[in-house]
Amino acid sequence: MMFDSHTHTEFSADSEMLASEALEAAERLGLGLVFTEHLDLEAAPIEFTFDPEAYWKKYLPLRGENLRLGIEVGMKAGTLEGSREFVARVPFDQVIGSIHFLDDLDIYYPDFFEGKEKEEAYRKYFRVMVDNLYSHDFIDILAHIDYICRTAPYDNPELDYGSFKEEIDEVLKAVIETETVLELNTRRFGDKLAVKELVPIYSRYRELGGRYVTIGSDAHKQETIGAHFYQARRFASEMNLQPVTFCKRRMELCD
Ligand SMILES: [Zn+2]
Ligand SMILES: [Zn+2]
Repeated sequence: MMFDSHTHTEFSADSEMLASEALEAAERLGLGLVFTEHLDLEAAPIEFTFDPEAYWKKYLPLRGENLRLGIEVGMKAGTLEGSREFVARVPFDQVIGSIHFLDDLDIYYPDFFEGKEKEEAYRKYFRVMVDNLYSHDFIDILAHIDYICRTAPYDNPELDYGSFKEEIDEVLKAVIETETVLELNTRRFGDKLAVKELVPIYSRYRELGGRYVTIGSDAHKQETIGAHFYQARRFASEMNLQPVTFCKRRMELCD
């Protein structure tokens, strides 16, 4: 079964989706789901956290072949130990690691980019990603490598492998060395240019020894569960990358 391995229900501070709504959409699409609620400790203006025991208690009766219970951890140097302890509180099936913050600023907002050229902002983004991949030794997946492109205020916000070859190679090598799986996040898959810019990155990942990807919609609403999965599955297949998901922290192949 194919899994949407990145979704947010009402336990995430920025989502109101009910588990029942997510499961109904997934069933219609013939997909399995992994819930990956947000943990971004010491975040401002909102702290993204939840009660893991309450999450476990509420969703454990729903957990099974079609639903796994995971978490998305925002990776920052200052919250490494706090996140590690949080993740150990319940037996999550899957732990995603993400870069949402740079210099303690949420890159969802414009402040981080103020006064920075794209080159400086993106170099920093990749550097922080590499450092956190090595320090966060309890994650299974690196989420949305193109997250910064969602909000960066530049004319061309794409990662552009040609301009950042060295930095992106460092990220891909860190992913492979730490046995982390690279996610294919479908949030931007409706944008042809965005997809085109990912081609050299995922083919380089394959070339350096990467074999697996998780596919995740990052849905915060029922309508976006499984969004662009047809394109993403085709993309993975063209890159010769095997889609996987996680159960009890062990990788499973999707078909
Ligand atoms: Zn994220
Ligand atoms: Zn997410």
